[in-house]
Amino acid sequence: MTGIPQTHPRYHSLIARENIVEGVNKGITSIQGLVAQGRGECFDYLLGERTVPSALLAEKIASAMLLLADRPVISVNGNTSALVPEKMVELASVTGASLEVNLFHRTEERVSRIISHLESFGATRVLGARGDGRLDLEHARAIVDQEGIYSADVVLVPLEDGDRCQKLVEMGKTVIAIDLNPFSRTSKTATLTIVDNVDRAMVNLISYSRQLGICSHEELEEIAGDFDNAKFLREAVGELMENLKNQ
Ligand code: ATP
Ligand code: MG
Repeated sequence: MTGIPQTHPRYHSLIARENIVEGVNKGITSIQGLVAQGRGECFDYLLGERTVPSALLAEKIASAMLLLADRPVISVNGNTSALVPEKMVELASVTGASLEVNLFHRTEERVSRIISHLESFGATRVLGARGDGRLDLEHARAIVDQEGIYSADVVLVPLEDGDRCQKLVEMGKTVIAIDLNPFSRTSKTATLTIVDNVDRAMVNLISYSRQLGICSHEELEEIAGDFDNAKFLREAVGELMENLKNQ
C-alpha cells in the first residue's frame, strides 16, 4: 500500500481507493468495482465528503429497522468487503443480522475468497456460497441463499444494483440502500436510501444500533415508522446543489 500521511486533506478517500485496489489484487473485488468506486467518489466530493443531516436521520431509522427485523440480512459485495469488512461484521453482530455474499460478477472462487476474508475479521457464519434460491433476474445477482436474502424481511444493500433492489422490494422486503448517488435506480426504488459513503454510514449504523439496542419494540417502531424516501433524496440533491452554488 502507498504511504499516505494521515494529515493529507483527503486521507479517507485515498485510503478507500487503496483498499479497493488491494481488494482487486486479492481477488475479492472485481475490476468493474473500481469504476463503481469512482462514481461514488465523485458524488461524495459533491456532497462535501461528509454525512449530510438527512443521511444521519436515515441511518438512525435504518438502525431501528434492522433491530426490529425478524430475519435481517446484510448483503456483501466485492467493494464493501474491500472497504468495510470489519464494520459489516460488527454491524451484523450488533443487530443480529446475517451476512450474505451476493455478486454481480459472480464466480464461486470470489464468493469463497470473500467469505474467508470476512471470517478473518471475526465473522462466524457467512451465507452466499450455497446459492439455492433464485430471484427473478437475468444476471448473477439472482443467485441467493434460501435461508438468507430469499427469506429475509429486511435487507441492507450497500452499493446495490438497481435491478435487484427493485426485485427485492417487489418481493415485499424492506430494502435499505447505501448509495452516494441520489439519482440511481437503487436510490429511487429502495424503501429507505442512505445517501452517504458506506464507510461513514457503517460507523453511524453501528453506533445507532448500539444506542437503540435498549429501546422497546414500540420505541423502535416510532423511530422507523414514518419517513419519506423521496424527501431524503431531494434533501441530498439540495445539499449537493448548495455545495455547487457556494464554490
Ligand atoms: P443503478 O443500477 O442503481 O441505477 P448504478 O448502475 O449507478 O446504479 P452500480 O454501478 O451498479 O450503480 O453501483 C455503484 C453505486 O454505488 C453507484 O451509484 C455509486 O455512486 C455507489 N457507490 C460507489 N462507491 C460508494 C461508496 N464508497 N459509498 C457509497 N456508495 C458508493
Ligand atoms: Mg447498476
